[in-house]
Amino acid sequence: MARRMLVAGNWKMHGVRSDLGEITAISMAAETENGTDVAVCVPFTLIERAVAAAPGFVIGAQDVHASAKGAHTGDISAAMLADVGAEIVIVGHSERRAAHHETNADTAAKADAALAGGLDVIVCCGESLEVREAGKAVATVCDQIIASLPGTVDPARMAIAYEPIWAIGTGKVAQPSDVAEMHAAIRARLAKEHGDETAANMRILYGGSVKGENAAELFAMEDVDGALVGGASLTAAQFVPIIDAAKN
Ligand code: PEP
Repeated sequence: MARRMLVAGNWKMHGVRSDLGEITAISMAAETENGTDVAVCVPFTLIERAVAAAPGFVIGAQDVHASAKGAHTGDISAAMLADVGAEIVIVGHSERRAAHHETNADTAAKADAALAGGLDVIVCCGESLEVREAGKAVATVCDQIIASLPGTVDPARMAIAYEPIWAIGTGKVAQPSDVAEMHAAIRARLAKEHGDETAANMRILYGGSVKGENAAELFAMEDVDGALVGGASLTAAQFVPIIDAAKN
């Protein structure tokens, strides 16, 4: 079974109400049914309005708490996200791991909570430059992603995003051969831990300075099933060419 491509935007801490026209424009470009799924993960404050600005388009969040409810000042639950129309959430982004000290276990717990609350999840992994230069990238990332997955690994409800930390927001894209090697290694490790069928159906996205100019080369790789896009997802002008590359 061919895997559907998924192109997901991550607006990070960008975007206010006056930016919602970009969501509408992106959703219109994504509309054609062509085997490609598109989503944009916006700040919490924009979710409800983004859903209204782009009916039928998938709006997501960028984090979720591992608990269903409770005394967690400033946090947000899966049920709250679903209540305002979010359908998907990113967990384990390297910026959360670095700035909020989130571990693999935290990421797995958040993914569990998201799935239990009715959200799909994108689980992120990726190595630092030091780890890559030490020749330990593949082993490190494979261990990291396996330890970050939810208890139930269902490819219909989740995707993995491989994002080398040194490529995020830097304009540096990993070498095509390194991307191909990593995605194949992740899929092989998934097969070992969760079975061939799960591995064959799991979408593995690449993230790290994806742009209209480099998307087609990435998407042509056998084990690259789409992208998680930060900076270039903020405007339709930059994001739509990436969606179009996935369509082709
Ligand atoms: C990201 O935030 O997940 C990301 C890949 O960012 P950028 O595309 O800006 O490198």
